[in-house]
Amino acid sequence: MCRGCARPIGRGELRFGEQLPNPYGQGEMTLWFHPACAAFKRPEPLLQVLGETPGKVPEREALERAARSSLAQRRIPRIDGAERSPSGQASCRSCHETITRGSWRIRLVFFEGARFSPGGYVHLACRKAYFEGSEVLEQILHFSPDLRGEERRELERAYVGDA
Ligand SMILES: [Zn+2]
Ligand SMILES: [Zn+2]
Repeated sequence: MCRGCARPIGRGELRFGEQLPNPYGQGEMTLWFHPACAAFKRPEPLLQVLGETPGKVPEREALERAARSSLAQRRIPRIDGAERSPSGQASCRSCHETITRGSWRIRLVFFEGARFSPGGYVHLACRKAYFEGSEVLEQILHFSPDLRGEERRELERAYVGDA
């Protein structure tokens, strides 16, 4: 399983392993990612590994570009996709107002102690305040694989519409 998107990493597929001290015991543990998921959610270690790997790496330029786009603002690696709010209970981490049922929200996760933990939500429309004007559509779409077809286009329209 990829730690970034919680989907399987296919057999024989290139994967990125990040070694970290094991917070639950001794020694080190390795977190595995799809390279693109690591680029968005763990940009610094991915860039470091790319820098230490001189040979051919598939999609190297795309990975470096993705990682740099996530490094543009310190909160961007928290992005875990977007969804229409299934209830009206959560509040926005940026404006602190309620996120009404059915409106678009960005899911956030925090990386701490070698794991990602749920970190709440921000209104799609609050992204400019929260991410200080950085473009984050790529990250949002990458971590929203369940949104397909018309829903995906609606999200893109909502993003562009309040740009
Ligand atoms: Zn992944
Ligand atoms: Zn908000």
